[in-house]
Amino acid sequence: MTIAEQIAQLRTELNRHNHDYYVLDAPAISDFEFDQKLKRLLDLELTYPEFDDPNSPTKRVGGGVTSGFETVPHRSRMYSLDNSYSKQDLLDWETRIKKIIGDTVEYTCELKYDGASISLTYEHGNLVRAVTRGDGVQGDDVTANIRTIHSVPLQINPPFPDIFDIRGEIILPIAGFLEMNKMRTDKGEEPYRNPRNTASGSLKLQDSREVAKRPLECLLYSVVGSELYTDTQFGSLELARNWGFKVPEFNSHAKDMSSVFQFIDYWDVNRQNLPYEIDGVVVKVHNLKHQEQLGYTSKSPRWAIAYKFQAEQAMTRLEHISYQVGRTGAITPVANLSPVELAGTTVKRASLHNADQITKLDVRIGDMVYVEKGGEIIPKIVGVAMELRHPDAQQLEYISTCPECQTELIRNEGEAHHYCPNIDHCPPQIIGRIDHFISRKAMDIDGLGGETVALLVDNGLIKNYADLYTLDKAQLLPLERMADKSAENLIKGILKSKERPFHRVLFALGIRFVGETVAQNLATHFKSIDALIAANKETLLAVDDIGERIADSVIKFFSEDANVKMIEKLKSFGLQFSGQQDIETISDKLSGRSIVVSGVFERISRDDLKKLIEQHGGKVVGSISSKTDFVVAGDNMGPTKRVKAEKLGIPLKTENDFLLEFEYQGNTSARKNI
Ligand code: AMP
Ligand code: ZN
Repeated sequence: MTIAEQIAQLRTELNRHNHDYYVLDAPAISDFEFDQKLKRLLDLELTYPEFDDPNSPTKRVGGGVTSGFETVPHRSRMYSLDNSYSKQDLLDWETRIKKIIGDTVEYTCELKYDGASISLTYEHGNLVRAVTRGDGVQGDDVTANIRTIHSVPLQINPPFPDIFDIRGEIILPIAGFLEMNKMRTDKGEEPYRNPRNTASGSLKLQDSREVAKRPLECLLYSVVGSELYTDTQFGSLELARNWGFKVPEFNSHAKDMSSVFQFIDYWDVNRQNLPYEIDGVVVKVHNLKHQEQLGYTSKSPRWAIAYKFQAEQAMTRLEHISYQVGRTGAITPVANLSPVELAGTTVKRASLHNADQITKLDVRIGDMVYVEKGGEIIPKIVGVAMELRHPDAQQLEYISTCPECQTELIRNEGEAHHYCPNIDHCPPQIIGRIDHFISRKAMDIDGLGGETVALLVDNGLIKNYADLYTLDKAQLLPLERMADKSAENLIKGILKSKERPFHRVLFALGIRFVGETVAQNLATHFKSIDALIAANKETLLAVDDIGERIADSVIKFFSEDANVKMIEKLKSFGLQFSGQQDIETISDKLSGRSIVVSGVFERISRDDLKKLIEQHGGKVVGSISSKTDFVVAGDNMGPTKRVKAEKLGIPLKTENDFLLEFEYQGNTSARKNI
């Protein structure tokens, strides 16, 4: 076989396995075999750059930053859909179309995926372009970003037209959305509002590597073009599926309107069980000839109509607004409502997000408001029944001082939230920081929980987390519900926490954007708090996974006198501010090696595996770079990581090989303290 043939064959194979994994959810080969093939392809591509191809499966990791997106015309116009909200609307629509195409009309029913629309162009079976809807006539060329989405085939299966467009929706499944938010809130960042906005925002990210990290999917619903090898809408969806696109199986061929109604009723209830959000159903004329006959209005096809589900909505009275202060001082307004039943639960509170949202809604105390349960976990206010407003209702004035400590609030340019700057004396900020300090992944203090912390702060026994170490039993006993035994346990728990290793102490300090992994990396790199305090931006940026934002935040934290004093205090109480004291050294076999751990493991927990590496002198790092020595790869290793490792030529070791090498016996003592 020539080199060109070998490369072509590997690409075809890898594309097929990618499809098995991401579209069919049924991998046919092991990750290890996949990795081997990908590595072979990478090697060949590196050695023979003349065969480079933007659609090679090695390109899924993204790369290259765009400074702006080129506006390009659609090959054919992207229409929007007429909406309907009742079955009567649908019957009226049916009457209108029967006038044009006669009495026999059948339908294809599809789900209306709630994301961002995209038009993909394929030439000779290769993805050449992906364009956002824009104004329907032209949109933004976001091809580089779309290539990173694994369910978008870069090459499709024959037979196919020489050139055609296919349209679909880029969505973010709910599980992936929640996971992204968890990672953000862990780092002290604002969570994203809902999957739809996050999906459409992702398409406009300038760095395609960032897009590659997001668990986006592309669901297809429409093939555009004349030579389609099929004469029905339903058939065109099957065609797309055979080409290798992800087309959900829920579409249905409905022989008449009553079957359409059945489809609607079923999904109105069962949409809760889908892994992604839908906001309705799209009913399309089944026969493509009929579609052609019906044609388009200036805005939308006459042969399709969207049926929007009633968002689960209720009306109730806004009693008052309260303001919550978070650990970082961010203020969130919360609407307190007269209790109302909504989608099976009683709702008493709804988020109002921030001051701008209140202004936008022009919501006032005493108003009757519409509350909706959408994709968000917390219900939201979507509107005001203006006709029911009391004539004396006063426009709301946003608070200008902190509801907890009366300090004047600040609002930084470009930020949506107001902040209470009184970091040291504002109770919810104090309590929030202590809660974080004692949490399981930080100091993990036994016998101490959120309620007790509030009690201790309210009674003036502690003002910050350092004060915990000055408590004695006699001070605790007078507290409400504090029995002798629990006081004793609490003190014991606090003393015991002094043994927590440096990296956990560092995480516990609550420096903004310094999550677990970052703390670990900083601890490993600098080895002591003094070295970290002395570090400048340049030195910080040299550490794995540390970017501008984290570096700035670390510098800001240590530039504040109060923080440095607090650390001195903690030091004097005997907390660990250097080294890795908890690690008993077994060997120095891995000394000087940077190792990435990825995936899930069968015989050992991730934490134990990391510990094992450290016990042998190795350094565990969070992300793969050219400095990584090897990756210990479990099942389901992230595909992005996998491709990156291959690209950089970093070896992968399987769980078994690695454990064999280190004669790991499943020793339970290593598991004890996780
Ligand atoms: P609208 O934005 O309300 O005009 O609705 C039209 C949009 O619905 C289209 O641009 C698509 O992005 C989206 N959509 C989602 N699912 C489908 C589907 N099955 N068929 C057609 N459009 C869909
Ligand atoms: Zn305050």
